[in-house]
Amino acid sequence: MAILVTGGEGYIGSHCVIALMDAGYDTVVFDNESTGFASTGRILSGIGSKGKLLGIMKGDLLERKDLDAVFSRYDIDAAIHFAAFSQVAESMGDPAKYYRNNVGGTMNLLDAMKDHGVKRIVFSSTAATYGEPEYVPIDEKHPQNPINPYGRTKLDIEYMMDDYDRAYGIKSVRLRYFNVAGADTLGRVGECHDPETHLIPNILKSTFGDGRTFRMFGTDYPTRDGTCVRDYVNVEDLADAHILALKYLENGGKTDFFNLGTNEGSTVKEVFAVCEKVTGKKIPVSEEGRRPGDPATLVADNKKARAVLGWAPSRTLEHSVKTAYDWEVRRRSEC
Ligand code: UDP
Repeated sequence: MAILVTGGEGYIGSHCVIALMDAGYDTVVFDNESTGFASTGRILSGIGSKGKLLGIMKGDLLERKDLDAVFSRYDIDAAIHFAAFSQVAESMGDPAKYYRNNVGGTMNLLDAMKDHGVKRIVFSSTAATYGEPEYVPIDEKHPQNPINPYGRTKLDIEYMMDDYDRAYGIKSVRLRYFNVAGADTLGRVGECHDPETHLIPNILKSTFGDGRTFRMFGTDYPTRDGTCVRDYVNVEDLADAHILALKYLENGGKTDFFNLGTNEGSTVKEVFAVCEKVTGKKIPVSEEGRRPGDPATLVADNKKARAVLGWAPSRTLEHSVKTAYDWEVRRRSEC
């Protein structure tokens, strides 16, 4: 039996593949290799652990025959589904790309699971399904009113999963990520987006003396220092939650959804200070106007994931910044 990981060569997916193998699961990666760090597949293939990486299949969720091939070839017990486009700004300019790939691709995956008798799926959803917060910390009862097509595609998929459970008995866990940060502690995999829009990699990229100034978007928010507050959850802690979600479903757990965050927020200025401390560098910064669509504060209430899944995030923001920096050094040396 194996776990199918779609998008297993991506940022979060690759950390999850490692966590699965460490937990003794055999895995199969399904990825179209359209984004991300080119060497990730090779790196994952070279990692020996308790579980094995049985294969990496280059395929597209939009091609039903690719999915049928992977379900026919391997004995798949459950899926963990990461493969998606995830750039908010791009989703505003080209929503068709997002609905087709994220919603259409997931529908193909669920249909293939239905036809091949696979009944469990863990899905990477997002805090973006909540939209502008009505209160913080945000718990799972908070209304879901996403404000961009990216968030809407993820919410559509959550609804689809409810319907596929009712009609076909496919059980799902939807994990709503807050701000994911950091890299593998052993430096094997990490983040690589093009264009990079996320805070921590963008601050760190400005430490390399190639004339890049970090742009701080918005210093007049109603927060403790005027910059936005976000809940940065470590990517390895996040990967651990997927293993717990899988075990929850294996133990007969019902379809459900959980926030993955730390219950604590950091401002952009606080994150910037951690980056200067960890790297020991003075980082060039320019204070700019607000980035459209950024709420002032987004912090998770993670009590439900703690209580039901037994998840306990433990890695610090400093650890996330340190591992992200080590990864950026490695990535640069290989590009
Ligand atoms: N941010 C910034 N400069 C950057 C990237 C992000 O000031 O180059 C800010 C952004 O405005 C937001 C916070 O950092 O307040 C987190 O942004 P990110 O894109 O990492 O995550 P989001 O919360 O938008 O998903």
